[in-house]
Amino acid sequence: MKERTCPRCGQVFKLTPQRRGQPFANFCSPTCIQQHKLTLGQLHASRLESGFAERLRDAGLAFVEQFALGPYVIDIAFPQVRLLVEIDGEAYHTSVRAQERDDRKDAMAVAEGWRIVRLPQGMIEQHPEE
Ligand SMILES: [Zn+2]
Repeated sequence: MKERTCPRCGQVFKLTPQRRGQPFANFCSPTCIQQHKLTLGQLHASRLESGFAERLRDAGLAFVEQFALGPYVIDIAFPQVRLLVEIDGEAYHTSVRAQERDDRKDAMAVAEGWRIVRLPQGMIEQHPEE
């Protein structure tokens, strides 16, 4: 069996014949594959966020990127109308823990008089003009 080094954790492992040719076969475990996907999702999301912000800027809208709301960071805020926009990267936001954190963030935003809108990443990719 061929030995491989996991690019996520550095562990050397033997690739089982069943996994050969499978997606992410160079990772040692499902945990490392999951972690890798999360990282990809985050990178992808932040690229989208800056592209989205650029379009808002082009439209002449007043907004703040990476807006600090208590312990949280919001992707985009429109302070004049007290509107927060979060762009959800799919892989990153679908985990239960991320969902719970989002719920707490939303509750805090609402308590402070903000409205919060979540845009799924897929929507921005498909309809950039909106
Ligand atoms: Zn690993």
